[in-house]
Amino acid sequence: MHRGVSPRFTGRTALFTCITIMLATTMVQGTLTTTGPYQEMDRCAVAETLQFDGQAANASVQWQVDLGPRLPGSEVSANFRQAVTENLTALDYEVSTREHQRYDMNLTNLFAKWSPNGTSSGLLVLSAHYDSRNIADQDANESNRSQPVPGANDAASGVAILLELAKYIPSMGLDHDVILFFNDAEDQDQQYTLGAEAWAENLTEEEVDSIHAFVLLDMVGDADLQLHNILPGNDTLKSRVVDLAGDLGMVNGTVDCSGAAGEDIVQYDTLVGVLDDHVHPHELGIPSIDIMDTSYGEPKPYTFGSYWHTMEDTPDKVSAESLGAVGRLVELGLRTSAFVDITEEIDTPENTTEPSESSNNTKSEEVEGSKTLATLAAVGLFSVLALILVVEWKGKP
Ligand SMILES: [Zn+2]
Repeated sequence: MHRGVSPRFTGRTALFTCITIMLATTMVQGTLTTTGPYQEMDRCAVAETLQFDGQAANASVQWQVDLGPRLPGSEVSANFRQAVTENLTALDYEVSTREHQRYDMNLTNLFAKWSPNGTSSGLLVLSAHYDSRNIADQDANESNRSQPVPGANDAASGVAILLELAKYIPSMGLDHDVILFFNDAEDQDQQYTLGAEAWAENLTEEEVDSIHAFVLLDMVGDADLQLHNILPGNDTLKSRVVDLAGDLGMVNGTVDCSGAAGEDIVQYDTLVGVLDDHVHPHELGIPSIDIMDTSYGEPKPYTFGSYWHTMEDTPDKVSAESLGAVGRLVELGLRTSAFVDITEEIDTPENTTEPSESSNNTKSEEVEGSKTLATLAAVGLFSVLALILVVEWKGKP
């Protein structure tokens, strides 16, 4: 992925808009007026049953990096797919691939589908990109900039969590299909999110309608984990993720299921526009969320941190603890139906922040929080700091 989000992202044009939007926002937490499987769930009881193993996910990060650069069309990429196919077929997933040609690249999306016995209420897509970036163009050392990155956090971390979750999904008793979508060519040169774009373009209307949600994991292994509120994204999914994170002790100023004070990990008062795989299903109206840490290493202007897109993106920067925290968050979401039946809760316009609005702000301004949100237990309001850093159009050939 890269920085920036376009108000109107189209498949034909990549809008490279680097915008940092940091603002405190009103988040809807907890109190909901509708009832459904998620609302009726005793999440803290479920939290005690979580199985996700952060150490195993960490070992997968090392395995992926040891394979070598997972460049689209490469032998390493094929080796990755073969291993994942064997692994997930053995766990009773139906594994398939689909190839696409884009910008002289042969990219291969890999899908592992689990279906319940009997009827299915629809489909949940969990995704991560498995390709690693072909150039370390942000590296401080100029001679490194033509080298492919190791991709420990930016690629392997999300994949590692999907592979670990895959072990437990078949025994969760879910009533819907789950597709683990390992997408290709997210992060090659000046081309981004090609695999997810190709997948979204080829969905039928019926398929779009059957998808409960698209949950993307990207850069989720940083030892200094800070998950941000990524634009664009579905507000109900975001609000549920904050709920789940609170249960697990990942939200500052809250107490977790055991009564302990939460850590400052899920920082959804920080909004960041990101062009990532989730924008494609989002544009189709599929509820989508990008679970992502946008600060990898030291802060560095115009980037996602000093390790991002450099040779420093190595397994030692990733931790089993962080992978475990994100893995348990998603596992809790799966087991509590947090990622399905998303449309039943209607968010009020007051608690949404459209990127098109924010991106037009070039100076700080005070934004009064809507008082109607009081009934939704939202906190008040705030300052918007929208700093437009770079705007650059990249027209596709
Ligand atoms: Zn990247």
